[in-house]
Amino acid sequence: MANTNVLDWIIKDIETRLDSADISPERVNSWEVIYLWDGIAKVIWLRDISYNELVEFESGAIWVALNLEENFVWVVILAGFSTIKEWMIAKKTGKVLEVPVGEAMLGRVVDALGNPIDGFGEIKATEFYPTERVATWVMSRKSVHEPLETGIKALDALVPIGRWQRELIIWDRQTGKTQIAIDTILNQKWKWVKCIYVSIWQKDSKVVAIAEELRKAWAMDYTIIVTAGSSAPAAMQWLSPFSGVAMWEYFMFKWEHVLIIYDDLSKHANAYREMSLLLRRPPGREAYPWDVFYLHSRLLERSAKLNDKLWAGSITALPIIETQAWDVSAYVPTNVISITDGQIFLETWLFNAWVKPAINVWLSVSRVWGSAQTKAMKKVAWTLKLSLAQYRELEAFSQFASDLDEETRSQLERGKRMVELLKQDIYSPIPFEKQVCAIYAWINWHLDKIEVSKIKSAEKDLYAKLESESSVISEIRESGKLEADIENKLKEVIKEVVSLY
Ligand code: ATP
Ligand code: MG
Repeated sequence: MANTNVLDWIIKDIETRLDSADISPERVNSWEVIYLWDGIAKVIWLRDISYNELVEFESGAIWVALNLEENFVWVVILAGFSTIKEWMIAKKTGKVLEVPVGEAMLGRVVDALGNPIDGFGEIKATEFYPTERVATWVMSRKSVHEPLETGIKALDALVPIGRWQRELIIWDRQTGKTQIAIDTILNQKWKWVKCIYVSIWQKDSKVVAIAEELRKAWAMDYTIIVTAGSSAPAAMQWLSPFSGVAMWEYFMFKWEHVLIIYDDLSKHANAYREMSLLLRRPPGREAYPWDVFYLHSRLLERSAKLNDKLWAGSITALPIIETQAWDVSAYVPTNVISITDGQIFLETWLFNAWVKPAINVWLSVSRVWGSAQTKAMKKVAWTLKLSLAQYRELEAFSQFASDLDEETRSQLERGKRMVELLKQDIYSPIPFEKQVCAIYAWINWHLDKIEVSKIKSAEKDLYAKLESESSVISEIRESGKLEADIENKLKEVIKEVVSLY
């Protein structure tokens, strides 16, 4: 009897509690933050949330849901960490992470969410693209057939890059990696290639300096800089390359050619590692999460050349990787090497010996090779790589030999002139037609009599003469070829310049 009374009382109590429960629409799909730590929040009472969905807090801060567990969601900070408190209410937004895209973004420096940080005011974007999207289906792509000229002699002649390629720039710190990327952006002026430079974990002052240089050369007109500096949360660094590629997909689907630079993916992997450890994901090799390879392959797969039916737009990607003490076989470098189509290896000793850009041309590869070069460049550059490799071998060997025969000595002298010719100043890309003329002069022995220290000045004189007095460069530029009649005219100009030395 007593038991029945207790049961009645319990049932009644439950009924009264249910009647008075706050189940207003506001609280449906809302949760409470039960744990906060370094840019991560654990939110209890999950209902119907998706991966990558935005979560809004009472304070207005917006985060993104990344780990979905049975009773919890782990969300990572994108903005406003300090405004969030434990037991605060969070709501799902029904929206996945997206960033503003469009013409209005050009010329701007933005953070990983597309917010302007350059002090030039609001950006009036009308369209938004998701940061994650399935890469273009492979059948709708086309093979590489057009060059993406860098304006850097050692690259355009020896390691040519094609539109749609993913070419990795890799080596230790302070060897000129960023400079190659920036000079390549400068060279896209008048080439109808839009550029995006994604900067990850670099000092703000460095990014400001890069933007300034690009602005001075009117290169910001066709460029967007997305940056997540060293003081930004790890999640912003993780997000920034995906935001960059979303911005450029807009242009690609509008027929445009796009160049995207990720500077650099080593820092990106480190940010992802930090974020994953905080999210309690199991660490794998070198403490990186198991899916770090998938992270980078997903990103780089989105560089694509669409076929003519899909308007033939393209994204070319130049990811950068920083190695530690030349260790290209470490986990993240090997991953990215295996995802890219070719690699530009730099060399510390070359950089220290003032052979800049310090490109190791005998190790660097471009899997598209001649199909990414004009006929004129192919004609002059095809033996160059072998000659340079032979010179490096002879040079190493001759250090131990006391007396050298005449032929070896003259080969060494020729090699020195080629190395000198391939050196290039910063912020000075050279159009391919001028590069063809300079290399032509070397392969045809015209430079052999000039002192090594005067090669650079002879090169400058040659360009000046070609610009002012001859139709050679415009003819090469227009036809892409070095026909016999142009060749004869070029020979005359070269002879005239060389005679002054
Ligand atoms: P980090 O590892 O710090 O990112 P990095 O490998 O990207 O370095 P850069 O910042 O591009 O290297 O270059 C290092 C320095 O060398 C810069 O001051 C740059 O201007 C200079 N430098 C790069 N290339 C050349 C060049 N061709 N001629 C002269 N100086 C150069
Ligand atoms: Mg750099």
